[in-house]
Amino acid sequence: MASSSTGFFQALPALPNQYTSDTNLQHAIEFFLPRSTIDKAAPEWESFGSKMVSEEIFDLVRDAESHKPYVMSHNVVGRAINKLVTSHGWRSLKRVGQESGLMSIAARREYEENSRVVAFVYHYLFSASSAIVNCPLAMTDGCASVLAQYSSHIKDSREIWQRLTERDPDFAWTAGQWMTERTGGSDVSATETLAVLDNDLCARRGEDNYYRVQGFKWFSSATDAEVCLFLAKIKEGNAVDTSLSCFLGRLIPNKAAGHVRIHRLKEKLGTKALPTAELELNNFEAQLIGGRAQGIKVISSVLNITRVHSVSATLGFYARALSMAREYAKVRQIGHGSSAQSKRLIEVPAHMKVLAHESLRLRAFTYLMLYCAELLGKSEDRELGLGKGLSPQHYRLPDYGRPDPETELSRIMPGVTKALVARETIQGISECMESMGGIGYMEDPGSVEYNLARLLRDSQVNAIWEGTTNVLSHDLVRFIRKNATVVLAGLDQLVADTIGQGEVNIKDHTLDPVACGNGDDAVGGDATLDSLRDTLQSRMEEWQSRITDPQFNVDGSQSRLLITALGRLVAGLLLFADTVRGGRVSQSRSLEVDANIDPVKLEVLARWVLADEYELCENRDLDYMIVYGMDKSELLQTVSKL
Ligand SMILES: Cc1cc2nc3c(=O)[nH]c(=O)nc-3n(C[C@H](O)[C@H](O)[C@H](O)COP(=O)(O)OP(=O)(O)OC[C@H]3O[C@@H](n4cnc5c(N)ncnc54)[C@H](O)[C@@H]3O)c2cc1C
Repeated sequence: MASSSTGFFQALPALPNQYTSDTNLQHAIEFFLPRSTIDKAAPEWESFGSKMVSEEIFDLVRDAESHKPYVMSHNVVGRAINKLVTSHGWRSLKRVGQESGLMSIAARREYEENSRVVAFVYHYLFSASSAIVNCPLAMTDGCASVLAQYSSHIKDSREIWQRLTERDPDFAWTAGQWMTERTGGSDVSATETLAVLDNDLCARRGEDNYYRVQGFKWFSSATDAEVCLFLAKIKEGNAVDTSLSCFLGRLIPNKAAGHVRIHRLKEKLGTKALPTAELELNNFEAQLIGGRAQGIKVISSVLNITRVHSVSATLGFYARALSMAREYAKVRQIGHGSSAQSKRLIEVPAHMKVLAHESLRLRAFTYLMLYCAELLGKSEDRELGLGKGLSPQHYRLPDYGRPDPETELSRIMPGVTKALVARETIQGISECMESMGGIGYMEDPGSVEYNLARLLRDSQVNAIWEGTTNVLSHDLVRFIRKNATVVLAGLDQLVADTIGQGEVNIKDHTLDPVACGNGDDAVGGDATLDSLRDTLQSRMEEWQSRITDPQFNVDGSQSRLLITALGRLVAGLLLFADTVRGGRVSQSRSLEVDANIDPVKLEVLARWVLADEYELCENRDLDYMIVYGMDKSELLQTVSKL
């Protein structure tokens, strides 16, 4: 008999360390980073992965989620104060991010040329426990990069850069980015905000680029930031520029002088702790950055960075949702009515198939995320001379005159990856929710660590901000049309570096057709590494011929299919390289096959490349290895002790 306090209560295990329990992440790290870097970073990641699921952090998340930000409009004597109030949890989580080096590692090249990859591992581990602090940190990262490129004539640029990239939270600042207006966020050309040069201010400040700005910004998420980058049109007399310019403003003095007013905070589906506001600018003081009418070029470098952050954030949610689903499957018993049929969810093949499917998708996406991070780091090193211990005033301006294939890939891959991953993650988190039944749907403050619903709500925004899927798709097609030679050369180089060129004998590695139980003639049953390689190669050729086909309509509905196809294809190339080489992409073009190919990697590769075609032949026993990194008997032994 059951009562509110007696009878059956479902056990709920504590979530494991988010770094050590994530086998997908471990494999991707080993692929992208040299051993010396992993040895240096791993102890820190391990302690961060443990902290992210600690009671201390979950208390802060609970506080941030349950005390939404608000605007205190007036003081007791009726004077307008327009003060933003955020929660203790929100402010503390921001400090955790800064102290952990999320801003400093990449910007200050703490791990030299591997800093971007190392930093994005942290961002991935942080996002699900950050209550969306990851959003202002992403914009801060982008702003620091812009300052590194365009520091000349920006007052106190060195100090601002140092504060944005600082570990000490008492000294650190964050930055916001205001692009979206009521006229549109996808297309900002109709921006209504105007900037007028203020000669008196220029004389007082000793620079010739100080402007007064009037306008209304429709979305500002980092409303508690100290600095901001935004777009406006310069007005001179009655003439208004048609092109946009980018400006850097400081919020503390502007707020104090009443030059920026929070019109209201937005009511949103998710991202509840994030103070997303509408802002009115009135004589707002700001400095032109990066040159007149160069706004889109300047802000594009922010977008490229924030898109990789969107990817790491949403994959962090996905990884956490999967972590919950994995732990729950270990303890949830079904078929209680008959003890003969009673078993744990991990013993149900259909359930394991679902978790394996999600796990391998997450693995492919994680490789894409770190690939974007690597490309970003390389292009910054090349263009800015970062990684050589230079300080901002020594940075060179980027040389856009000499396109380089890998630099061009670094411009497209963040958008490609975000377009693919942001949407697929929503579906994946939803699948994890269903796998936990009704518990997955709950928003119980008593178990904030198992609040999967919050992750589903918060993941939705990643498909909208920093470019919707269709907008990214059209941008990609247009960009490739304009820069076809160099982008396609970049993709050809990637193909050569991952799946090799010319003849190689890898036919010995036939995927085991017996495992599917349907014999040799089953669909996909004769897949070999060679055939997987041929499939990837021919898909890339087909993709390239489609995108360069003059008949192809760039504004048509096919753009979206092309962008997601490219994302899948690049993930397949990376998984292939990891399977055959068992490690980092080599600079050598010759394909050296590792004799001891990991059967789990091979299985993941085949499932990813052949998808539904291979479904019939999947090796079911490997589901356990894909999901838990151990075989069935080992897993059952482990859970019997729970
Ligand atoms: C929680 C949240 C926080 C945000 N924070 C910020 C912030 O801090 N700073 C900031 O600047 N912005 C911010 N944004 C705004 C966000 O970047 C925009 O909402 C986004 O860029 C879309 O712009 P929009 O809302 O004007 O939609 P629109 O641009 O009107 O788009 C509406 C639809 O039209 C489609 N569309 C538009 N143009 C095209 C085209 N050319 N081809 C095909 N389809 C098209 C889009 O795909 C979309 O489906 C935030 C948004 C949210 C939800």
